[in-house]
Amino acid sequence: MSLVSDKDKLMIESTGFDVENIRKDFPILHQKVNGKPLVYFDNGATSQKPQTVIDAISNYYSSYNANIHRGVHHLSQIATSAYEEAREEVRSYLNASKKEEIVFTKGTTEGINLVAHSWGRANLKAGDEVVISAMEHHANIVPWQMVCEATGAILKVIPIDNKGELILSDAEKLITEKTKILSVMHVSNALGSINPIEDLICLAKKVNALTLIDGAQAVPHFMVDVQSLDCDFYVFSAHKLLGPTGVGVLYGKLELLEAMPPWQGGGDMIKEVTFAKTTYADVPLKFEAGTPNIEGCIVMAEAIRYWRALDHDAIDKYEQALLSYAKEKLSEIDGMIFYGTAEKKVPVISFLLEGLHPYDVGFILDKHGVAVRTGHHCAQPIMDFYGIPGTIRASFSFYNTFAEIDQMIDALHLAKRMLS
Ligand code: PLP
Repeated sequence: MSLVSDKDKLMIESTGFDVENIRKDFPILHQKVNGKPLVYFDNGATSQKPQTVIDAISNYYSSYNANIHRGVHHLSQIATSAYEEAREEVRSYLNASKKEEIVFTKGTTEGINLVAHSWGRANLKAGDEVVISAMEHHANIVPWQMVCEATGAILKVIPIDNKGELILSDAEKLITEKTKILSVMHVSNALGSINPIEDLICLAKKVNALTLIDGAQAVPHFMVDVQSLDCDFYVFSAHKLLGPTGVGVLYGKLELLEAMPPWQGGGDMIKEVTFAKTTYADVPLKFEAGTPNIEGCIVMAEAIRYWRALDHDAIDKYEQALLSYAKEKLSEIDGMIFYGTAEKKVPVISFLLEGLHPYDVGFILDKHGVAVRTGHHCAQPIMDFYGIPGTIRASFSFYNTFAEIDQMIDALHLAKRMLS
């Protein structure tokens, strides 16, 4: 069965987005799983990687692997330049004004922890408030709970409605003079909702609160400009944006990063160490203690280069067409319940089939080559809100096709027959 159908060909004609060609860049997609063509709809968990990214890993290790910043020798100098060029690539991608505003991290989780533990512990005190939303990933809940516990600050939560949209009128009431930081996700991993972060940033600015945006699920779908958003911090993980695991970015406004204490000590983050006193390196190295994920940062930049070279208007139209088609086909299945029907969504669909356990459905889909995620998607409070243990989540990327959606729909019909 070809995973590019007539419907895909029509889309190629109407959007100019040539998915058939794009798929050639992703070797992993061309395999069978359990005797069926692989359909990879777990992009929200991690994306697949184009050949240029795979080659960049191999090239690093076969040509210039060395530790950075500390060596006078040839390989160390090449690796150091590539590492710092990667920082410049990320700066230009996010449209940050200065390279020093880009801190390399292990990923979104570490970026949020860095701000919570460094800025949070230094600046929050009893009675201050930290505002998050009811749809946050655990990565944007737990670090703030830990810091609130340590400082006496209070965690406030912007509620959501049934469609999975933030209730802005409640946000207006919750964000007050007591709010010191607003930390919200740009896009929901569990529901796909695109949040009105521009409005939220505006609300925070009115009361002089800082803003942190969790961009983990936004960057794989659209371009982000931190200067036009005017947020204080923006975090993301490379592995959801075509890059490697274990590496990511914290963007922070320079004056804030400069005022924040380091949160980990060790090599590379110092100016001078004596037993009496240590002075710290300037940002961003102050926050990059120890040997970083050198090849990860370099390869992340390669992934970003690949992503930036694509036609984002065409991708947006194509992904929205995938989303509408999947919604239409899924709603034809008896007992289909959707979770997250926000007006503005990335191509992520969370659903349940009445009376069927999501794990059982996920298991049968896998037997038919279809990879989806089942469970709470690290967003247990959302599941509590809907009163369910979890959902089945199909999250699409620009390299997915209409034919793949058809394969998932066939497998779902079969799951229904087998499990009912
Ligand atoms: N935030 C959101 C919205 C996510 O979807 C994820 C991962 O799924 C994370 C944070 C955590 O990302 P990582 O595990 O790469 O640190």
